[in-house]
Amino acid sequence: MRSNSLPKSILECRCPRCRTGKVFSHSAFNLAKFNRMNERCPHCDVRLEPEPGFYQGAMYVSYAFTVAFIVIIGILLYYLANDPNEWVYIGTVIGVMIVLAPLNYRYSRIIYLYSFGGIRYNPALSK
Ligand SMILES: [Zn+2]
Repeated sequence: MRSNSLPKSILECRCPRCRTGKVFSHSAFNLAKFNRMNERCPHCDVRLEPEPGFYQGAMYVSYAFTVAFIVIIGILLYYLANDPNEWVYIGTVIGVMIVLAPLNYRYSRIIYLYSFGGIRYNPALSK
């Protein structure tokens, strides 16, 4: 039996119930389709959108990620680039957030689904 630890399942965007099926139907690097989710888990068939509009709450997780990245980038630039012009801060933050947008989008939804989706892990369903 494969080990399906919680951190590994979140990192790999796996279904919270079986920790085997994938939540997203395409790779995060597919820029046209990185946001496409499976309606149901391809492995255990649980609904991955527990109720209509469920994922609107994921924007709070996304906001927390964004603030964390702004603080981290700000601290790194202050110490590593010796407190550059404010436009360097703004440009770097915007650039990094655009590059990380697919990951921010996906992990916001995954963390929100694991936290508030009400789906319990069932080890008997995992592969
Ligand atoms: Zn599943």
